[in-house]
Amino acid sequence: MSKIVLIGSNHAGTAAAKVILDSYPGNELTIFEQNDNISYLGCGTALYVGRQIPETKNLFYSSGPELEGKGAKVHMQTTVEEIDFDKKVVKAKTRAGATITQAYDKLILATGSKPIKPNIPGIDIEGVHFVKTFQDGLKIDAELNKPEVKTVATIGAGYIGAEIAEAVQLRGRKSVVFEREATCLPGYFDRDFTERMDKVMCGKGIELHYSESLKEVKSSNGKRVTSIVTDKGEYVVDAVILSIGFLPRTELGAGKIETGRNGAFLVNTNQQTSLPDVYAIGDCATVLNNATGKSDYIALATNAVRSGIVAGHNVCGTGLQSQGVQGSNGIQIGEYKMWSTGLSTDKAKAAGFDATYVDYNDTQKLSFMVGPNEEVHLRVVYDAKSRKIVGTQMASYQDVSMGLHMFSLAIAKGLTINELPLLDIFFMPHFNKPFNYITMAGLTAK
Ligand SMILES: Cc1cc2nc3c(=O)[nH]c(=O)nc-3n(C[C@H](O)[C@H](O)[C@H](O)COP(=O)(O)OP(=O)(O)OC[C@H]3O[C@@H](n4cnc5c(N)ncnc54)[C@H](O)[C@@H]3O)c2cc1C
Repeated sequence: MSKIVLIGSNHAGTAAAKVILDSYPGNELTIFEQNDNISYLGCGTALYVGRQIPETKNLFYSSGPELEGKGAKVHMQTTVEEIDFDKKVVKAKTRAGATITQAYDKLILATGSKPIKPNIPGIDIEGVHFVKTFQDGLKIDAELNKPEVKTVATIGAGYIGAEIAEAVQLRGRKSVVFEREATCLPGYFDRDFTERMDKVMCGKGIELHYSESLKEVKSSNGKRVTSIVTDKGEYVVDAVILSIGFLPRTELGAGKIETGRNGAFLVNTNQQTSLPDVYAIGDCATVLNNATGKSDYIALATNAVRSGIVAGHNVCGTGLQSQGVQGSNGIQIGEYKMWSTGLSTDKAKAAGFDATYVDYNDTQKLSFMVGPNEEVHLRVVYDAKSRKIVGTQMASYQDVSMGLHMFSLAIAKGLTINELPLLDIFFMPHFNKPFNYITMAGLTAK
């Protein structure tokens, strides 16, 4: 029997806890969580704020009592402040100020990530918001209930920024986006794909300002935000939503645990850190990127859950290994959908590949079929020398997301573009075409 301590119980921590409690009941698991909830699905924030879903109660899939019921000792609203890695002891403080000292045989760090807060004048003025926790979402929601909040600036046009900007627009407010890069969704898609999403956002009335950086938040009434200043001008706004990325929360291991990309805890494929008996999972840890074969930082709930499962088994003695990730992701704005896995063309070039790509655009089904039959844009990025597929992007008004999973697997397994044309893809008119865009991309690749 081991004493296992878990710090943080959102997606990664909850996954690890469930593996330990369900599969290895002989162990003693103590969980520390500083928030008053666990397992919050942040993907629901924009949907709720934009009233695309009616309520928040189903945005949680577990709870402290559920994990207590499975046998864990759960300390909610209790922050771990210090870890003595030599003596194997953690020190935590409850909301009421009491100190808890807990010894461990194995420790799992699942402390996640925190939103990047730029060091600029006025950043703490009332009316400036972040998008991370359930409470952050409620605060944004409350702002949009105020009639005087008419114009909202979203800073950052990554996934979270694009989604929250849409939510603001859906609530009938003027939605203005500022992005430092020259495009939305930088890093995930090539320009021709992001331009399609720009058209969708502009079509919805969202104002886009690219290649423009936030420099200052101002208040002319001394109470709350009234304008923002960028490197190109000053804009009157009533609220600001910051979504410029996340940093791993690693303070507890500072100077003690080796770090990798972005300062995340560097882990091996068993989720072990550089310290014996200390594991790290989810947004606070690195992942193995199968597209590059290197350690990377990709903050996604999917990676968090998988890494939690791996750590849960490993702390209990089963040497399960992570298979690495491709960073597969998707977004929908209005009815338009985009998905990507692996590397964009620019990212592949930056990673040292002789990157090239093949595009194939076609409708999903044969023309004689009745009903929705939308155009699908497919781009497969591959290395011209090794022919290995290193990335894929797809876009359509139709949900063809399942196609992306195949490319995710292709990257994980090192499939070449030459193998694509002869891959066994079924055909039936209800679903696709005999010469479908996946086969055709393989056949037309140079
Ligand atoms: C708005 C939004 C939308 C998203 N949409 C998607 C999506 O559609 N798909 C997707 O795959 N991913 C999405 N993500 C990313 C995903 O939410 C994160 O990757 C995921 O939450 C990471 O889980 P985690 O458990 O590693 O970390 P976190 O969610 O950051 O949780 C860490 C937990 O640790 C606790 N903690 C930290 N320090 C301490 C301490 N010292 N003591 C006690 N407790 C501590 C925190 O309170 C927190 O509960 C989204 C994120 C956001 C913010």
